[in-house]
Amino acid sequence: MAKEPFNPFAMAQAQFDKVAAILDLDQATGELLRWPLREYQFSIPVRMEDGHVRVFRGFHVQHNDARGPAKGGIRFHPQETVDTVRALAMWMTWKTAVVDIPLGGSKGGAVCDPHNLTQGEQERLCRGWIRRMWRDIGPEVDVPAPDVMTNSQHMLWMLDEYETIRGGRFPGMITGKPVGMGGSLGRMESTGYGVVYVLRECLRELGMRPNDAVASVQGFGSVSQYVIDLLTQIGGKVTCVSCWDQNDQMAHSFFKKTGVQLKELRSIADRFGGIDKGKARDLGYEILPGEAWLEQEVDILIPAAIENQITTDNVGKIAKSVKVIVEGANGPTTPDADKAINERGIFLVPDFLANAGGVTCSYFEQVQSNQNYYWEKDEVLSKLDVKMTSAYMGVSDMAQKRKLSMRDAAYVIAISRVALACKNRSWV
Ligand code: GLU
Repeated sequence: MAKEPFNPFAMAQAQFDKVAAILDLDQATGELLRWPLREYQFSIPVRMEDGHVRVFRGFHVQHNDARGPAKGGIRFHPQETVDTVRALAMWMTWKTAVVDIPLGGSKGGAVCDPHNLTQGEQERLCRGWIRRMWRDIGPEVDVPAPDVMTNSQHMLWMLDEYETIRGGRFPGMITGKPVGMGGSLGRMESTGYGVVYVLRECLRELGMRPNDAVASVQGFGSVSQYVIDLLTQIGGKVTCVSCWDQNDQMAHSFFKKTGVQLKELRSIADRFGGIDKGKARDLGYEILPGEAWLEQEVDILIPAAIENQITTDNVGKIAKSVKVIVEGANGPTTPDADKAINERGIFLVPDFLANAGGVTCSYFEQVQSNQNYYWEKDEVLSKLDVKMTSAYMGVSDMAQKRKLSMRDAAYVIAISRVALACKNRSWV
């Protein structure tokens, strides 16, 4: 029988349905939460450098805003689909709820490959995206942020377009802005550092020392780079990193037994985190196949790239030595692979808890933008640590009390909070 194509939204709904049953959610709440509140699909014409116009497809999905304005990133990805964006919007709702910040969940995207777009074309695409969506986003409605292949420059173009249309200054309209232009110190680091804060708590719980911890990481984007940064700072070691190679159109893994060096890898990577194979080899890295990151004899695996990476096809290749998986990416593990991981007794910290550092810092950025007063980096990061640690503790307590996996426990907390907000507003 042909294998069904992976559908992240079906996966997000299946995860939700499982926990809705555990919680015995009433029918109306279940129906409301298993679908987005609103979704938008649109076309964005962009004048290319050679003068012709190319039309890009755009999506935006607001899953839920019962707890506050919807919040989530905008992705630029060639394989973007409405179902990817739906799933990611839903996961944002659970993410903001599990860390208990007063925001909902949304996600946006455009089908494009920024590798092949000039800066000018990217700017026009960002402005075009806002021209389609400006009526339905804003500081009190829905606040976008960076995500896969978008960064602070894209956010600033989007803000500028929004402010030009609206006629005013609205720094709380978007987060992940450049520092000095309404951005928060620490926002760049926040998702990766947040992953390490929860990993640190998890190691403590399992009686493992960060000093002896050896990890393998998938991806070399902003999440992964700051995971490597902080994990190394607290004494751990990352021996393998994988990334996408745009020239070869496939992924490779980069291995160094003594531990990869962030600085040297950064110096030979492009702005999308693509590491130069030849230069890496010269620096003593072994170049392995893309999936080799998953097969390493390490204690910790950190998928920090995109969805659908640990599947039934490769879950069996995870080494016996692996004790912990922390999901830096959104939706990296399919439900069947998740089950296999659980059965093997590997401790998994789920995506919407593990990678909530980014949106938590976005929330701090909004607070700072609204006050028009910006905090020192240490203050931002220590507040982030407090939020992430207490969210982790809450989920871990729930998992132990109700004998649930960390994923199901995180869902129980998040869904209960959102369901309660819907109930309190008399929506259901
Ligand atoms: N794109 C990030 C995420 O998936 C951050 C979202 C935000 O800051 O709003 O969590």
